[in-house]
Amino acid sequence: MVSVSALDLDETHDPKRVAWLAVDESSDFPIQNLPFAVFSTAERSPRIGVAIGESILDLRALAEMGHLDGVIDRSILCGSTLNALMAVPHMRRRALRRRLSELLRVGGDPALRDLPNLLCDARTANLHLPARIGDYVDFYSSLEHATNLGRLFRPQGEPLLPNWRWIPIGYHGRSATIVPSGTPIRRPCGQRKAPDAAAPTFGPSVRLDIELEVGFFAGPGNALGDSIPVERAREHIFGSVLVNDWSARDIQAWEYQPLGPFLGKSFATTISPWVVTLEALEPFRVDGPPQQPPPLSYLAQREPENYEVALAVELRDARMRERGIASATISRTSFAAMYWSQAQQLAHASSNGAAVAPGDLFASGTVSGSVAGSQGSLIELTENGTRPLRLPDGEERRFLEDGDEVTLRGRCERAGYRSIGFGDASGVVLPANPPSST
Ligand code: CA
Repeated sequence: MVSVSALDLDETHDPKRVAWLAVDESSDFPIQNLPFAVFSTAERSPRIGVAIGESILDLRALAEMGHLDGVIDRSILCGSTLNALMAVPHMRRRALRRRLSELLRVGGDPALRDLPNLLCDARTANLHLPARIGDYVDFYSSLEHATNLGRLFRPQGEPLLPNWRWIPIGYHGRSATIVPSGTPIRRPCGQRKAPDAAAPTFGPSVRLDIELEVGFFAGPGNALGDSIPVERAREHIFGSVLVNDWSARDIQAWEYQPLGPFLGKSFATTISPWVVTLEALEPFRVDGPPQQPPPLSYLAQREPENYEVALAVELRDARMRERGIASATISRTSFAAMYWSQAQQLAHASSNGAAVAPGDLFASGTVSGSVAGSQGSLIELTENGTRPLRLPDGEERRFLEDGDEVTLRGRCERAGYRSIGFGDASGVVLPANPPSST
């Protein structure tokens, strides 16, 4: 745990600061958070908003009225994505955070209180993808997850391949199928081959799984041919979201060698729509686990680069939903123990001169802990389907069934600081829609 004096904190993190709007103690979005999203309502076309309790502040309207002049250009907040905001230098986005906190706090600038129509009820809003995601990378940065999956996919070999402790392993995913929380997930079809079968068959996946991950959106980024040094990586990270990297294990197991994940992953990826900024997460920045062997110099960190986020996976089947039975929490884990940090992931991803652009999304890889019930996927939680989970309605689960609803949650807590959260990343599994052969 890093000492508080090493953290880059300011008045916006003060736990005594409260908003003049009522915000419930359990809310993910107190004034210390101020996450951004793209929202719309019956009256408002898609636009940028910031969450405060159960309300959304319309930043486009606020900017157009001149209340952010001198802090940030109006045009940056008048689009229908966060890309332009993600592109601004990190000191500018900190200035915006301070201004918003000042407008919303008790005892601050009263300008906003005369403009109640700039706030809308979050329950009436649609939340969209927060950014135009140009590129999407998925890492594989949990030592426990990589070890568990290695054991399941290559039972005869060493679970961890020799490069894993040297390289933040990752692959480029499909950005076009990233969807916001609440989007239904169609069960994918594909080639599956049973171990003792001579040939594969094509059909709906029967081993549909989740992956609990945390992703970050890139900030300003680098020009082609340049790279982002690990010690400056945080300047190029805008903020984080929860990520469910839905995975068809049967399709994955047959297709992944020698080039890695493809159709077993690309059918859908769910993210939480509120982007929790790096500034909001600062009180929760901590040391990661020791790294052995020591990373090569371009990956060597001098400061703590991990974040203490308590993560949970909830599952509810169709019958539980119909009967009003609460979701079952099937996993609880922490993001703090990830082996490779976001800073190392970004330094590595740009180390060959590849350009990173504002709005690119980098997912952590499945977050798994070392104790029972702390794994971020069903294939780990059920030991490859051999130890099914029991749900509150008596149903058993090895992998996902049609109608199942999965919700990811994340919350940051630290003594002396106001807790903040990520909101939900959820999706319901729909039956497969096999392609017609005629
Ligand atoms: Ca993944």
